[in-house]
Amino acid sequence: MPAVRLRYADEDEAFRAEFLAWLEANVPPDDVLRRPKRSSADLTDWSREWQRKLFDAGWLVPGWPPELGGRNATPTQQMIYFEEMAKREIPRSMNPQGLGIIAPSIRDYGTPDQQEKFLVPTLRAEIAWCLGMSEPTAGSDLASLRTRATLDGDHFVVNGQKVWTSGAHHADWCLCFVRTDPDAPKHKGISALIIDMKTPGVEARPFPELSEPDYLDFNEVFFTDALVPRENLLGELHKGWPITQGSLAHERAMLWIDHAYIAQRSVRALVALGNEAGADGRPLREDARFRDEVAGFAIDAQALMLMGYRGFSKFMRGRSSPEHSLLKLYGSETVQRSLQAGFDALGARGVDTSVLGPLLWRDGSWIVQWLRSFSATIPGGTSEIQRNIIAERVLGLPRA
Ligand SMILES: Cc1cc2nc3c(=O)[nH]c(=O)nc-3n(C[C@H](O)[C@H](O)[C@H](O)COP(=O)(O)OP(=O)(O)OC[C@H]3O[C@@H](n4cnc5c(N)ncnc54)[C@H](O)[C@@H]3O)c2cc1C
Repeated sequence: MPAVRLRYADEDEAFRAEFLAWLEANVPPDDVLRRPKRSSADLTDWSREWQRKLFDAGWLVPGWPPELGGRNATPTQQMIYFEEMAKREIPRSMNPQGLGIIAPSIRDYGTPDQQEKFLVPTLRAEIAWCLGMSEPTAGSDLASLRTRATLDGDHFVVNGQKVWTSGAHHADWCLCFVRTDPDAPKHKGISALIIDMKTPGVEARPFPELSEPDYLDFNEVFFTDALVPRENLLGELHKGWPITQGSLAHERAMLWIDHAYIAQRSVRALVALGNEAGADGRPLREDARFRDEVAGFAIDAQALMLMGYRGFSKFMRGRSSPEHSLLKLYGSETVQRSLQAGFDALGARGVDTSVLGPLLWRDGSWIVQWLRSFSATIPGGTSEIQRNIIAERVLGLPRA
């Protein structure tokens, strides 16, 4: 049988070439891209300028129309775009929740006034956002959230607490999910409010992470009789649940591409680590267990990429794609396990912060990247929740 060569259509390759030429001429140098930032809502001068440049050139959200920072790119072209960005670890925004989750939610559910006030300013990095979903007793089971909003004339009065709210202390606005009908079944009485973080009665308290104690991103956010104008209700009253699901879907859609490239980078870093001495003083590349593990990760990284393409191709043909339920779990756990393998192999040297990890993150050391990898399996649905979804929706097993 003659060999079949899978390739992109000429117009898609032309799209790639145009994008790469633009990137080459415009992307900030590496030392600027890697400058430390204070949180995931910390829009520094260079990052505002970069995001605006992407917007103006139609390279911020390529699938959207030109007036919203895009160029009506096809799904295949969007995938090419995300691949080229992931390959080079180029961020689109320093406020990923604003661009990746909140802007699409406002586009899908906002009134014309809300779109005018919030959408383009978010895309142009003029305002930064945080996402108020999780609470001390509502994480995986988000529908049990208790932050209460009572409609009183032209305002909602908000009381309650959010937690893990990334970047809340630097955000201008919060897309916050609140309970507006406590008597309705739990998925039915939820609404989405756009809350100005400067409102009296809103207090963000940042707290440190284990991996980088100097980097403050997480917050507890307290609401005490905070008044929110009625016109800041996003979508319909009591009908915020579909918005929460849309928000998470936006978060998950192209995540596999990042995971696939991070996994490949991890494999290359493990191969390089082979020259380091292991616990017994011999180079790690001579350790059979280490070699087996690295070969296993090379297979995982390849499988991840192919599974992503397969899911995408089914989506393009309008078919359902169980791959999408598998990719977040497989991707985030592969990355986590590969960083763990390097850490284990290094023995006592694993805590040496001069040993560099595979990713071009703020802190390049292997140990910090390994510690950070623990959080990768939590947001957007934990690994256990992903396994429940696979068991029930893909394999058809009964609910536990
Ligand atoms: C880096 C990072 C950034 C985040 N940013 C934000 C943000 O900006 N805004 C925001 O609102 N939230 C944010 N979160 C919070 C995140 O959404 C929650 O941590 C997540 O939903 C899990 O909720 P939880 O922490 O309350 O854990 P829980 O839901 O209490 O889960 C605890 C453990 O029990 C397991 N578990 C729970 N239910 C089940 C079940 N039915 N079956 C099997 N196991 C189960 C979980 O998998 C987990 O291991 C962020 C989290 C991280 C790690």
